[in-house]
Parts: sequence; C-alpha cells; structure tokens
Amino acid sequence: MTLGKYVYRLATLAIENGGWMELDRLYLQNQILSEIGVTTPVSFEKGCELEASEIIDVLVEEARKHEKIHHAKEEVELRGKLYDLLTPPPAVFNAYFSQLYDKDPERAFQYLEKISYENQTLKEKAEPKYLETQLGQLMYTKTNGTYEENIPTENAKYPRCGLCFENEGYNVNGGAPFRYIRMNLQGESFGLRLVSYPLWNEHSLFVAQAHQTLMHSRKTVDQLLQLAYLFPGHFIACDSDLLVDSLRPQHVVYQGGKDDVPLLMRKEKATFTLRGYEEVDVAILDYPLTVCRLRAKEGATLLNLGTEMMQQWRTYDLENSPAFKENGSLNHSVMMVAQKEEEMMSLYLCFLASDTPYALHLAQGLGVAAIHGSLIQEEMNELRMALENSDPFQQNPRWIDEWMQHLDNRLERGE
Ligand SMILES: [Zn+2]
Repeated sequence: MTLGKYVYRLATLAIENGGWMELDRLYLQNQILSEIGVTTPVSFEKGCELEASEIIDVLVEEARKHEKIHHAKEEVELRGKLYDLLTPPPAVFNAYFSQLYDKDPERAFQYLEKISYENQTLKEKAEPKYLETQLGQLMYTKTNGTYEENIPTENAKYPRCGLCFENEGYNVNGGAPFRYIRMNLQGESFGLRLVSYPLWNEHSLFVAQAHQTLMHSRKTVDQLLQLAYLFPGHFIACDSDLLVDSLRPQHVVYQGGKDDVPLLMRKEKATFTLRGYEEVDVAILDYPLTVCRLRAKEGATLLNLGTEMMQQWRTYDLENSPAFKENGSLNHSVMMVAQKEEEMMSLYLCFLASDTPYALHLAQGLGVAAIHGSLIQEEMNELRMALENSDPFQQNPRWIDEWMQHLDNRLERGE
C-alpha cells in the first residue's frame, strides 16, 4: 500500500473522532508527513481500512527509514504526537461527551471508551471471569499491566504526578494523549478518565483536581452518591482512607465500573431497622467481609445514615479491634460503594480495620492474575486469605448484632 493511503486514513480517523473538520485534512496530512520526515511528494488517497494503531506502526517504520527517529525515546514521542492528533482537544472532547451524555449517559461512556481505545490510553479490554470458591462466587481478571495508575512521585515538579491535570497536552512526549472529562462534584473540580489496564468493564477513575489529604468525610459520601446518580447502573467505589499514605496530599480518586462484582451480587444475611431511618433497607450481606447495604429511594437519607455509620465506626471499640491504636491513631475505616439501579439508590459500607491493608478490588471479590501466567489458583487463595483475615467481625458473628444495636442506640439519642 502506498504511504499516502495510510496518511489519508489516519487523517480520516482524526476527523471522525470530532477534533477536526474536513477543511483540516490537508493540514493534518502534512503534520503527519512532517512528523515522519517525508520530503518527497505523496498522493493522498482512500483505500486503507486499517485501525489507528496499525497505521501508526507503519508510520513509525517510515520515520525510522527517514532517520526521523533513532532511539526508543524518540519513538515514544512520535507515537504520542500521532495519537494526540487522533484525539480531540480537551474542550471538544468534553463538549462531545456532554452532548452525548444529555441523550444517554451510556452513549457518552461508549464515546469515551472508543476514543481511549483508539488512542491507546485504554490498552486492553477487561474480561473478568467468575469462579466458584469456598467463599462463594468470586471473580478474577487477567491483565497485562497493573491497574494502579501512576502514583505521585516525591520529586517530580511538573507534572507533579501521573494523575495531575497538568499531564493534558504535556505528557504527549511520554506517549499518552492525556484527557479528562471535567465535572463538578459538590463544588470541587474532578476529571473522568478510563483505567489503562481495566479490571472490570468500564473501569473508570474520577480524580479530584487538587492534591489533598484523603480522610473520608460527609463530602466523600456525598460525592459517591452524586456520581452514582450521574451514571446509573455504574458502581462508584472508594478505598478505605487508612489503607494508604492518607496524610500526604494526593488526589482523591473514586473508581467506577459497570460489572457484577461479587460484593454487589450477594444476598442478605440479616436485616435491620434503624430508628429514625425506617424507610431505609439495612442489610448485612452474605459475604466474607462484613458489608452493610443501605438501600432507599432518597439519596439524601443515605447520605445522612451513611455518614453517621462511617463516623460511629471510627470510634467504636470492637472486642478484638479497638477504635484507636496505642499511639492514638485511628484504626477503623470504611470502604464504600454507591450504585443507582432504577429508582433505588444503594450504599455499601465495608467495615475495615487499618491493620488489614488491601486494595479495593480485593474487597470487592476480584482477584488479579498476570496474563501470561497460570497463577489463578494462587491468586484466588491469596484473595480468600485476604478476605477472611480482614473481617474484624470474623471471630464472632454476634458482634455484628452488637454493632447494629450500638448504632441504633446512637441514632435514637441523636448523637
Ligand atoms: Zn497530581
């Protein structure tokens, strides 16, 4: 195939993605030629149907031929620039997303997924599978990479970390056309993007723009519920605030997804009615960790009760797990998940003690295996041990009743 056909096709894909118009075609094609160092006439024409990544592979080889790239770093930069041309600028990207969102939030997500996959910020698709275990049905995903996004680096000055909005337009040199879908949650600026190596379907990150400490508060519950309201059917989860270096300023991150993660699929083991909140279904789920599901029509009710539960748990002394450690620091935290389905809003609170550090995906019943390994059994054993060891209520089922009774008393007294 002639070079002109590849270049024409890449320009077509860029125009289709919404960032450019037909009038920009010559400009785009010339940008591509100049990036790969072509100095002879090229006839641009139809006839190539390849995907973006395949075309970019060809163009990179062409650039090598023309001595435009000599080493790996230059190749990464060139790929970044070509993928960036394919991706609409942030304002246009945001405008398209919100236009689609107004018709149907799911279509907006599909657009985000399509562009992210095409420009390789989403590197693979999640294919979680279910597995019957002694702890009931759990799930695992095989992945090529780590699900963790870039952790803030101590010494970086600009961009300060891999999640910073500062990466937009800057990190092209690192090969990634970074974009955030902007939104405002309770007066705070957030950005939405997809995880490069997702663990579940539509694995998304909602990242606060500002670096801040990570202690959960009423605002945390409020933001979770607001996101669940904005993206019906998606679950929105946040880690425990004690499982990370939570006092060092960093981004608050909520993880979203649209999948049947085991934690959300379990049946009720016991139900309770809490005074003042009679309209809320309160249930402890049949799950290896102690999870309380609150379900109601009104998000505002869940906000009040959820906040109350989180705060009460912080100061609750469980027989084998005191509220405070010997040095006075907090020992109890919750991991939370919110989800809106049809007219009902659910808030899941997973009661944790800080000595049991493990990631959010494990708490949700999801093991992770390397894509080229056959480690699934080991990974699942690890998951099983993590779940069993992490439940502060595990030794004595009666403690759950005592805890709910304690809550009921506190709510009655309005404390
Ligand atoms: Zn940052």
